[in-house]
Amino acid sequence: MIEMDNVSKWYGSFQVLTDCTTQVAKGDVVVVCGPSGSGKSTLIKTVNGLEPFQKGRITVDGIAVGAPGTNMSRLRSRIGMVFQNFELFPHLSIRQNLTLGQVKVLGRSEEEATERGLKYLDRVGLLAHQEKFPGQLSGGQQQRVAIARALSMDPVAMLFDEPTSALDPEMINEVLDVMVGLAQEGMTMMVVTHEMGFAKKVANRVIFMDKGAIVEDSAKDAFFGGAQSERARDFLAKII
Ligand code: ADP
Ligand code: MG
Repeated sequence: MIEMDNVSKWYGSFQVLTDCTTQVAKGDVVVVCGPSGSGKSTLIKTVNGLEPFQKGRITVDGIAVGAPGTNMSRLRSRIGMVFQNFELFPHLSIRQNLTLGQVKVLGRSEEEATERGLKYLDRVGLLAHQEKFPGQLSGGQQQRVAIARALSMDPVAMLFDEPTSALDPEMINEVLDVMVGLAQEGMTMMVVTHEMGFAKKVANRVIFMDKGAIVEDSAKDAFFGGAQSERARDFLAKII
C-alpha cells in the first residue's frame, strides 16, 4: 500500500531524512519510534505530500507522491492523518468538522456526508456530542473526533503522529482503544508513537529511526524479543 524507496530530504543544508526505504502492505500496522528530532514526523508527512522530499520515490496505492502527473489533493484525501494536537476546526461544530472535507474534497452531498460522519462519530462513542464545538470536548474526545473525521473520507491508509502524546494520562487509553479496533479490522496504519503497549498488541512491524535514518525495521516479535540494534535498545530502556 505504501512504498518508500531511498527517500532523502533536506532543510537547506541540513539532511533530515537519509535514504529511507520501507514498505507497508495492506493491513499492516507499522509503529515508528525513535528519539525526538530523529525525523519521524517528517517521514510520515512525506507519505501524504505534506512535506516534499528531494530524492527517492514514494507510492501510495500505486500512485507516485509528488510526481508531476499526480493530483495531490485527491491523493491526500485518501490518506487519513491524525496529529498530536487534533487540528479540528475550532469554529465549526463536531458535525461540521466531520462533513466539511467530504463535501469540499470528495463532492459528497451534505446528507451523505452527515450520514457517514455520524456513523464514525458513533463508532468512537461520541454521537451525543455532534452539536458541540471542539473546545467543549476533552483532549481525548477531540482526538477521537479527529479519527472519526479521517475515517469519514474512506482512507486507504491512516497515518498517526504521536496521537496520544498531548493527552492527559487518563485519556490515552480511550484513543488507543479506537486505534486498536481499527488495526484489528485490517486498516493499514503507520503510527508514530512511544506507546509500546500498543505496538506489542497490534503492530506487525516496528521501525526505529535515529538521525533521519531508518536504523531498524523489524517484525514486532524480533524487535521486542531483544534483537534490536544497540541504539534501539538504549532508546527502549529509556522510555519503558
Ligand atoms: P521527530 O518527529 O522525530 O521529533 P521531526 O521530523 O519533527 O522529528 O524533525 C526532524 C529534524 O528536522 C529535527 O532536527 C528538526 O529540528 C528538523 N526540522 C523539522 N522541521 C523543520 C523545518 N521546517 N525547518 C528546519 N528544520 C526542521
Ligand atoms: Mg514528531
